[in-house]
Amino acid sequence: MNVALGTQSAEPGRGNEDFAAAAPGAAVLLDGASVAGAQTGCKHGVAWFSTTLGGLLLSTIAAQPARPLSECLADSIRVVRSLHEDTCNLTYRASPTSTVVAARVNAGALEYLVLGDSTLLLADPDGKTTAVTDRRLDEVGKRLRAPVDVLPTGSPEHTVALAEYRDALTGLRNRPGGFWIAGPDPQAAEHALTGSVPLDSLTSVTLLSDGATRLVDSFELATWPDMLAILGESGPDELIRRVREVEAGDLDGRRWPRGKARDDATALHWVLPL
Ligand SMILES: [Zn+2]
Repeated sequence: MNVALGTQSAEPGRGNEDFAAAAPGAAVLLDGASVAGAQTGCKHGVAWFSTTLGGLLLSTIAAQPARPLSECLADSIRVVRSLHEDTCNLTYRASPTSTVVAARVNAGALEYLVLGDSTLLLADPDGKTTAVTDRRLDEVGKRLRAPVDVLPTGSPEHTVALAEYRDALTGLRNRPGGFWIAGPDPQAAEHALTGSVPLDSLTSVTLLSDGATRLVDSFELATWPDMLAILGESGPDELIRRVREVEAGDLDGRRWPRGKARDDATALHWVLPL
C-alpha cells in the first residue's frame, strides 16, 4: 500500500484537530470542530475526539470487512460516546464534532463514506477526477454567512458576526434540513454519503480536510487534476505549502472571505493498485 500523508496545524505550535491514518486496504480522515467561544461540557477537547474516533473507525473498518462503513461509523461513535459520557456533559452544543472520510478496499471495489465538509478525491486511469464532498454544511453555511463575509477577517466586527453565524449553524446540526456531522449521536452515520467504485477504475484515492482543498474550492486557483498533479509529483507537504502561501497573501480574507485565515490542513494520498 502506497500512502503519502501530510498534515499541518493552522498555526505553528498550535494543536492539530485533523486526524488521518491508514491500515492495509483502508484509510480515514477526520476534521474535528468545536464552536469557538462557546462553553463545552467535554474535558477532552476536539483533538481527542477526532483522534479517538478516527483510530476506532480505522480499526473497525479494517477488522470487519463485511460490516458497512456507515455501521462501522455508528459503532465507533457509540464507543467514543461511552468513553466520556460519564465524565463529560455531551448535551452542550459545543461538544466536539468531526467530519469523517473513510475508504476501504473490499471484494474488488473501493467503498467510501463522506460526512461533513472533508473531501474524497477519486482519480481514474484517463486522468478524470471525481470529488465526493458532502455539500450540506456548505449550503446551510452559505445561507447564513453572508453578513460575515463582508467584514475583514480578524476584525472585532467579524469576530462578533462569526460567533452569531456559528450559533445559527449549530442550531441546524444533525437536524433534518440542516447538516450532519459525527458527534455524540450515532444516528449521524446513517446520513453519510456512501458509495462504491470498481478498484480497476481507480489510480488514486485522496482524503482531504477542507484546510487542504482551499486551492480548489475556496481560492479557485487550481483544479482537482492540478491538485492531483501536485500530490503525485511533490506530495502532500507541497500542496499544504502552496495553500499557506496563498493564505499569507490574504490574511484579512478580503479577496477570499473565510472563517479562519488558516485552517488545519491534511492530505492522505493513496496510490493504487495495492
Ligand atoms: Zn469528553
